Formats: sequence, structure tokens, C-alpha cells
Amino acid sequence: MGILEARGITKRFGGLTAVNELSFAVDKGEIFGIIGPNGSGKTTVFNMISRFFPITAGEIYFNDRRIDALPAHEICKIGIGRTFQVVKPLRRMTVQENVMAGAFLRTRNISKARRKAKEIINFCNLDDYRSRAAMGLPIPLRKRLEIARALATEPVLLLLDETCAGLNPKESEAAIDLIRRIRDTGVTIIIIEHIMKVMMGISDRILAINFGKEIAMGKPQEVANHPEVIKAYLGEAYA
Ligand code: ADP
Ligand code: MG
Repeated sequence: MGILEARGITKRFGGLTAVNELSFAVDKGEIFGIIGPNGSGKTTVFNMISRFFPITAGEIYFNDRRIDALPAHEICKIGIGRTFQVVKPLRRMTVQENVMAGAFLRTRNISKARRKAKEIINFCNLDDYRSRAAMGLPIPLRKRLEIARALATEPVLLLLDETCAGLNPKESEAAIDLIRRIRDTGVTIIIIEHIMKVMMGISDRILAINFGKEIAMGKPQEVANHPEVIKAYLGEAYA
């Protein structure tokens, strides 16, 4: 059964149509990838699902419930968590405090939030950095913190925006391992990644978009070999 379904979703910014009548359905428990060249509308899709801004047209369903008119905090509350392409942790707070901030979505009890944060920090291999200030962390750790903070909100669907961008191959592998472990706990994941290679290895299915429209959809191998996808990535780092 589909956990999330987008029907003909469209987002216009003035004269620019960033996402154009896009439809897709994500199955429960899968890792669903969205790829596309820079500016093709990937982050906008996440902003539409998480209601960062209102959608221009179309419908979004989560467990068969229409959600495209719900406010952002409600989207979070019903179990849709996300990370941001440009990570923005609460800079002056420690790693633990950042994760606790996520946990406060589900509890007002400080010791409960602290316990939850410790658990997640351990799961994300951030134990060594628990009392470090978020602002001092290098990018790969900040990205992991961003995931930890999203996990603390106890999502059933997690939206990951370019988690591996800017990471070296080894860091990227660690991030992929973490994403797989999150999926193994039963969380459904939609992942955006510009780098094709990362997506090939991790996604169960991939939706490829360009200019906000679907150009291919299916198993990673099929999508990677699709002529429209190759054309769209031509002149970019296709690796
Ligand atoms: P991607 O994540 O695939 O790189 P985006 O979804 O960020 O692409 O952007 C798609 C298009 O929409 C781009 O042309 C971008 O400039 C435009 N865009 C994105 N967000 C906004 C916004 N808040 N206001 C105006 N234009 C935007
Ligand atoms: Mg983006």
C-alpha cells in the first residue's frame, strides 16, 4: 500500500513552474529516490510535502488522508520528518540539545526527551560529540545531526535532502549505512540526491525529474539507462 501519494502536484513561483503536474506513490517501507539536475524541482517537492509553502495545484495523501492543506507543524506531528539541503542546526546548542529539540515534539518531559536523544545519538554514531556545540561540527557530522534531530520527532516517513552532498566516498558510505539502518527500523524514506551513484545503490525505486516533470520512473538500473535521464545529466558530472 502507498504511504504517500502525490497527484498532479504543481508549484509556481511567479512565472516559473518549479514542479509541474507531478504524480508518484511511495510504498510503505521502501527507499524512494528522487533525482534530477540542479534546479529541476527536487527540494521544492519536499517543501510541498512538508508544507514549507502552500502548493499551487494537486493533491497529497499520507496514509490515504489528504494532507496538502495541513500546516507544517501538523505535517510533522502526523509523522513526516525532514532534513534540509542546507543544514541549519541550532548553532549555539549542543548536539544533545539539538536532538532534544526534536524530541520535544512528542513529549514535554525533559528527562524523557533526554533519554530519547541519547538513544538516537547512539544510533547515529554521534556519542563522541554529544556535548559539542553544533556550530563547531564539520559538515558530515552536522548532516548526521540533522538526521538525528529529524529522527527524534519519530517520523514514519523521512525526507532526506542531499544527505551525501559534499561528503567524501567514505563519509558517504557511512551516511548510506545509517539510512539503511533507519529504513530497517520500519521508517519509509524519500531521498533526494544529485549524485546518481549514491542513488543507484540505495534506492528501491527512483523517480527522475527535469524542469519539474517526470522523465523516468522505475528500478534504479532502468532509470539510469533511460535516454531522457542521460540527456538531462549530460554536461553534468554523471557518475
Ligand atoms: P533542486 O532541489 O532540484 O535543485 P529546487 O526545487 O530547489 O531544485 O528549485 C527548482 C526551481 O524553483 C529553481 O529554478 C529555483 O530557483 C526555484 N525556486 C525554488 N524555491 C524557490 C522559492 N522559494 N522562490 C522562488 N523560486 C524558487
Ligand atoms: Mg535541492
